[in-house]
Amino acid sequence: MKAPETARDEQSTPWNVAVFAPLRQAYTYAVGPDMDPQAGMRVLVPFGKRRLTGILLSPAEPAHTGSRPLKSIIELLDDRPSVPPELLSFLCRAAGYYLHPVGEVLRTALPPGIDPVERAGALRGPRVRNTVEKVFRPTPAGVERLDEISRRAPSRGAVLEAVIADAPVSAVALRHRFKDAAGHLRRLQADGLVAVDICEARVDPFVSGVRRDTPPTLNAQQQQAVDAIGGAIDAGIWAGFLLHGITGSGKTEVYLHAVERARQAGRGALVLVPEITLTPQLVGRYRARFGDDLAVLHSGMSEKERHDQWRMLHGGRVHVAIGVRSAVFAPVASPGLIVVDEEHDGSFKQEKGFPYHARDMALLRASMSAAVAVLGSATPSLESHFNAVRGRLRLLSLTERATSGRLPDVELVNLAVHRGGPGFQSIISAPLHDQIRAALDRKEQIILFLNRRGFAPNLLCRSCGEAVRCESCAVSMTLHHKPPSITCHYCGARRVPPEHCPHCGAADLADIGFGTQKAEEIVSSLYPDARVARLDRDVANARNAEAILDRLRSRDIDILIGTQMVTKGHDFPEVTLVGVLRSDVGLHMPDFRAAERTFQLLTQVAGRAGRAERKGSAVVQTFSPHHPAVAAAQHHDYAAFAQTELEARRELGYPPFGRLAMVRISGPDAAKVESAARTLMGRLRDARDNAGQPSVSLLGPAPSPLSRLQGRWRWQILLKSPGHGPLRAVLEGVLGDIESPPSGVRIRLDIDPVSML
Ligand code: ADP
Ligand code: ZN
Repeated sequence: MKAPETARDEQSTPWNVAVFAPLRQAYTYAVGPDMDPQAGMRVLVPFGKRRLTGILLSPAEPAHTGSRPLKSIIELLDDRPSVPPELLSFLCRAAGYYLHPVGEVLRTALPPGIDPVERAGALRGPRVRNTVEKVFRPTPAGVERLDEISRRAPSRGAVLEAVIADAPVSAVALRHRFKDAAGHLRRLQADGLVAVDICEARVDPFVSGVRRDTPPTLNAQQQQAVDAIGGAIDAGIWAGFLLHGITGSGKTEVYLHAVERARQAGRGALVLVPEITLTPQLVGRYRARFGDDLAVLHSGMSEKERHDQWRMLHGGRVHVAIGVRSAVFAPVASPGLIVVDEEHDGSFKQEKGFPYHARDMALLRASMSAAVAVLGSATPSLESHFNAVRGRLRLLSLTERATSGRLPDVELVNLAVHRGGPGFQSIISAPLHDQIRAALDRKEQIILFLNRRGFAPNLLCRSCGEAVRCESCAVSMTLHHKPPSITCHYCGARRVPPEHCPHCGAADLADIGFGTQKAEEIVSSLYPDARVARLDRDVANARNAEAILDRLRSRDIDILIGTQMVTKGHDFPEVTLVGVLRSDVGLHMPDFRAAERTFQLLTQVAGRAGRAERKGSAVVQTFSPHHPAVAAAQHHDYAAFAQTELEARRELGYPPFGRLAMVRISGPDAAKVESAARTLMGRLRDARDNAGQPSVSLLGPAPSPLSRLQGRWRWQILLKSPGHGPLRAVLEGVLGDIESPPSGVRIRLDIDPVSML
């Protein structure tokens, strides 16, 4: 019986809508009588003279709708919510935490193609339909008559036999195995031999014939970690873990087991990794465990590929996702586990558009979904380390290498003492040279690391002392040799190298310092018998980097020179020597995290050596052998490093002891930017007084260390606060100023900033 119609149709409740635009406010719209709205559905709404896509947030309180007649939603674009309830409440909280317009947060979190208005001409995006699976099971008659059917119609009999053997089995799986499976299934169903269930069933993850691997037996420490994580998943309550395991200790194996535990508990799992570790090799390890029950999300994929992966998760057909930063927003259904691998990595921070930190968002999402978060690293960020110290995360330690390998001995070479080695301009000191020679003679492989690409970082005039600078950024141009050019590493500008100094006109330009290109040339000429290759962003993107790393793995390369790309997560059993050409690049940046980053980098690079039976060694060339970050890395001493660094941070009130927010003011006109920055500073002072938050310090306004970028002048104001609450209270008072800056000026708010430039 149908319920009697009510008067609801004439006066259905209006809804709050977040439109895809950088606006802080949600707008209220009337809903047509024939529509069946649900939170998370996409709608098309009139907005001024335009039409915009938006997301239904919640029914509006009548008191808030005012007296003016509401505009109506033009069209409901979904049959069921594009943004599932779990994801929607998480994204709204994220928007609140970062004080960022919710429409833009939603837009960032959803896949390309979700906004049909975005593309001119195409007004409709893909409609989200009920993407449930058809699964088949045999009826008693089907089981009874199998022999008879197989005699009469062998191919139909084969399909029936498969249904009996594998029930419940999805139509997709059967189509993979049998020609005309659909036709046979129709007949079998009509004859009452099979029955169909519509459900979001878990399909066999290995239908497409991926090769399954056998998980290794875990060692005691790994088992302990998996038990703790698995126990928390089974308990179905929020828990956070820090998995601190030395390089090569088998953290990935722990994640794989934990994901399996989540699946067994009937929950989904999400694994976040840094962009450069999301290699086919890593995906292969997950694929071999979870087959087709895995979605992969990264920025190198086409829009269609990304959209397809998103749809599979959204439809509940796939339960495990691995991806980079933005995958923290993936619509994994009922997530039970969120892993952040290499959680210290800088690439988890989004800088443009909606600035968020995927590690922090992983913790927030897990806590809101009664899921377990696992942050893993050999060099945890001080934020996570401190969270473990004060009990907000449970610490799990892996202190041994999983295979027989041991951590390498690390030798520091003081460049102030070892000047002018055999390598031109001291690129290779005598001690490093001896070790390279010896490793080559033993037919072992070598990685040389330098955190600076290009040929030379400066083209300097020997007459006037000026460097050749970028015309739109306040940085010097890097000289590149193949093809000859000068390039700005901040804006990408590229020019033919000048012959005369742009400042004084003298024909006396010299390249100063060295990058990976120059190092490659020098090393090739020093070791003519060795096969030398280079890996950095100029020769490879994240995808084809794997081809170069494969050549290293298959021993086609003796010496690989590279930037960060060589340092992460890869396993090269035959590499026994790692050389760090200059440990000081980045150590003296105007950034309170410079020491932490140096320690992490050195530890990760050294960790590439000696992954198999042969003992590895690392040689670190440095001008700062006594710097705490360098000294601690030499002894693989995370605890010592963390202690020194935490003390320094405590004294200055920097994270993890305080919270920061950066307000960046930029524009093409230097005077306007400065004046806007000073005005905003005054407004911030007022807001601080009004909010009664004297503990929040306001630092600035000052020109940013990178004072000009892509033609825009940059100023900044740093807010430092003992906690998030006071910071927020002050910032809420200036949101209007941030949203409507003076013309020609842009103001951006970055909560928990990572870049200080
Ligand atoms: P991490 O992620 O900590 O750097 P991995 O998980 O990549 O370490 O493990 C390093 C190597 O050790 C890999 O080749 C992996 O297959 C292997 N490994 C991990 N756990 C075990 C185990 N319990 N038994 C044997 N080999 C293992
Ligand atoms: Zn530039």
